[in-house]
Amino acid sequence: MNGLGLVKGLALTFKHFFSTYVADIFGGKNSIRRRGTIDADGLFTIQYPEESVVIPEEFRVIPFLVYTLGEDGQRKYRCTACGICSKVCPTQCIWITRMKDPETGKPITSSQEFYIDVDKCMNCGTCAEFCPFDAIKMDHDYRIASYTRGETHIYPKPQLGKPLEYYAKIRPLNYAVEEAERAAKAQPRQ
Ligand code: SF4
Ligand code: SF4
Repeated sequence: MNGLGLVKGLALTFKHFFSTYVADIFGGKNSIRRRGTIDADGLFTIQYPEESVVIPEEFRVIPFLVYTLGEDGQRKYRCTACGICSKVCPTQCIWITRMKDPETGKPITSSQEFYIDVDKCMNCGTCAEFCPFDAIKMDHDYRIASYTRGETHIYPKPQLGKPLEYYAKIRPLNYAVEEAERAAKAQPRQ
């Protein structure tokens, strides 16, 4: 029948249009979670930046350095300045110097400086994968656009540092696996 295709197309459009309201009113957070996926009810788009899609755990942007707070309130970075991440980085965008013992002048297992050139970083995650100390992890924060270039895109250690709790929050499954392995290693051998 002439025009049947047009009617079918409009019906589909209206179905998605009304489904959006049904999903938003009754679907709660889950409706946003499904947006942009094959399971989406109604519209596929979201009202960014008021809303944002739920990011999968393995999403990768720029690496960050994990730290815990010591009793003195100072950051205790996990990084030992072993340099493996900088060696394996395909774009060579990590730059590290090792801290020295102020009395002996000998290098100690901590980084003095740690820089990442975020313009060069290709978000591959190799650094995080190879780090033997779970000290560098891939961040989820993609809102890092800026109006300046040059040195502001070379992140220094304080800017790269994020607390362990943040890591546990954005990558709960990875964190749980690593903590279980850490606990198993800490068990005395039979
Ligand atoms: S982040 Fe990891 S791999 Fe890189 S220097 Fe520190 S301990 Fe070594
Ligand atoms: S994510 Fe890849 S490119 Fe970026 S710093 Fe790590 S290894 Fe280098």
